[in-house]
Amino acid sequence: MATSVQNNKRVKTYHFHQEWETEFCFININDKCVCLICGASVSVGKRCNVERHFTKVHGNFSRDFPAGSSLRRDKITELKTTLQRQQSLFTKPAKKANSATEALFKVVHILTKRKKPFTDGGIIKEAMTAVAETLVPIPWQGECLRCLRMQ
Ligand SMILES: [Zn+2]
Repeated sequence: MATSVQNNKRVKTYHFHQEWETEFCFININDKCVCLICGASVSVGKRCNVERHFTKVHGNFSRDFPAGSSLRRDKITELKTTLQRQQSLFTKPAKKANSATEALFKVVHILTKRKKPFTDGGIIKEAMTAVAETLVPIPWQGECLRCLRMQ
């Protein structure tokens, strides 16, 4: 009985080791071993699988970028930066959409709180201030809010 319960639970026994990053150009993303060079992931994150992928698919990498050299370190940093840039391509639009929705909710909250449509100048100013506080990046926020106060 106890063995069937243990068999049903799949316990992760393999963990990413940080030295694989410089040794095999692999990085840990959401508990998956992802190759920095080609973007492929290894199904089971064992050292032998990671090493096999690196030696079979990217055999020339160790020749071009010798292990332990600053050339290899720089190349891995460059590959990591490229991967982060690719990932931010998908996360940035989602953040913009979320802040636009937040600004919309703030405007609706102001309008329902005052129980008036967009006819009063004071409400428009208050709503635009709330939108500026939400959408405008922090370095330009102060100037934007100052301009709204002068209106
Ligand atoms: Zn690869």
